[in-house]
Amino acid sequence: MNGFGTLDAWVGRTIGLDRLPTRDDIEAYQLRCLNETIAYARSQSPFYRQRSDWPERGDLQDLGDIARFPLTTPADLVRNDPSLIALPMRDAVRLVTIPTSGTSGRQKRLFFTEADIEAIVAYFEHGMATIVRPGSCVAVAFPAQRPDSVGDLLMRGLARLGALPVALPVDGTLETLVGALRELQPVAIAGMPVTLGAVARLMAADGGPSLRIETALVSADSVSPSFKAALAVVWGTEVFEHWGMTETGYGGALACEAHDGLHIREGDLYLEVIEANTGRVLPAGHEGEVVVSTLRRRGLPLIRYRTGDSGCIVETRCHCGSILRRLRLGGRIGEPIAVGEGRSLSAEIVDDIVFAVPGVIDFSIQLRSGRNAGLTVDILTADPRTIEDVRYALLHHPIAGPLLQSVKMSVAIGLASGPSFPLCRKRRVTVVQGEG
Ligand SMILES: [Zn+2]
Repeated sequence: MNGFGTLDAWVGRTIGLDRLPTRDDIEAYQLRCLNETIAYARSQSPFYRQRSDWPERGDLQDLGDIARFPLTTPADLVRNDPSLIALPMRDAVRLVTIPTSGTSGRQKRLFFTEADIEAIVAYFEHGMATIVRPGSCVAVAFPAQRPDSVGDLLMRGLARLGALPVALPVDGTLETLVGALRELQPVAIAGMPVTLGAVARLMAADGGPSLRIETALVSADSVSPSFKAALAVVWGTEVFEHWGMTETGYGGALACEAHDGLHIREGDLYLEVIEANTGRVLPAGHEGEVVVSTLRRRGLPLIRYRTGDSGCIVETRCHCGSILRRLRLGGRIGEPIAVGEGRSLSAEIVDDIVFAVPGVIDFSIQLRSGRNAGLTVDILTADPRTIEDVRYALLHHPIAGPLLQSVKMSVAIGLASGPSFPLCRKRRVTVVQGEG
């Protein structure tokens, strides 16, 4: 294993071994933790206690046995009635509330104890140690002002491994961010794909001094091939993808140097993949919905929580040498839409084509099916001629081109107007399924 540190060694220490763990070690540990979590949740959390579909025999004989237990959904978290929280109220002072970002008023509320928070910081420390050397300056492009926010916890993890984390001003303009980065000259950077992509592209376009950033951790949104290529071209960066959400305790799975799936955070999470319609557990290698159970979490344990993300689990040994199972993510920005004549187009492809055009700094896409089938792309660019480059790229792409040219689909490409895009957000890809 070549990383600057290894996650396997850390998982071994978490389990209580003084050597690298084997698969048997990890699975025995996970089985023990799941049995503890199930018993703890059933006795401490009103939600799990009152579930009527709970199996009679509560302990697992093996990991696959967890399929007997009911799934938990995001709706359960939003409703939180009965509450999923598993601590007596007198301990509530030790709880930390972290609302997830969302546009609807109803939010998922997650509760972490101090020990739960500590597990997150430890994961960030050891995960980042695989891509960042001690002593290197790391720019953090996540909001980090609020205590226990993702940026704050990442900064704490980085400081612990001996790196020098600096929070970037992500609540201002893109130009401010570019200026801060040029002053800082970090060796590594962490942020959402949209933020890092826009900063890199503006830097390439504005004629200012260039920068070399060795590694980037990108998280909280899907990553397109053109995004990875843009960072490689502009900064010479190797992009490491991360998957996680507030429910997984931010961290979930992290790419290694082999870039063939993301190694799962197996000391804290047990992942399954199910068929979304039936709930049936799928074998390794089959794509479906990712379901997560927490292994050590106490504030709000999750048992078989449906993440809504799709992917498959890879059990073969990775070229990097790690034995940790991997998650290979599937499409994350909407189902392909029907564009007529029995054909379909995925937002993922359009997203990749648009950002592959070098003049594009940021953009939003709307893809509509049905009677008003069409594609609308608004781009942020320093050069209005980029509009024609984007049109050309779309109409001449080997897959999207013939579709857009042959079916009755309007293609409108314009300059983004109105207030500038917020810096920290997911990509704006809207898919509208219209009536046929
Ligand atoms: Zn690997």
